[in-house]
Amino acid sequence: MMGTEGKAPRPPVRMCVRCQVTTETPVVVCVVHQNSGPGFVVYACRACAVHFPPQPDARTTLPQSGRAGDER
Ligand SMILES: [Zn+2]
Repeated sequence: MMGTEGKAPRPPVRMCVRCQVTTETPVVVCVVHQNSGPGFVVYACRACAVHFPPQPDARTTLPQSGRAGDER
C-alpha cells in the first residue's frame, strides 16, 4: 500500500545556485542548453535573483560595442 491519501504534495523546492539554500520560491535565472542531452534550469532564491542579469532571451542580440552612436 502506498498510502498517499491525505498527504500534501511536496512544494517544488529548488536549491539556489548562489547561496546554496533550498527555496520554495525559486526564480529562474539561467537556462543552460547542451548540445547533447537536455539542458537544465538554474534557479536562485528571490533574494539572490536580483543579483543576476535579466533573462537573456529578449536581449541576446545586443551589440558588443557597448555604447554606440558616439564615435566620430
Ligand atoms: Zn540565494
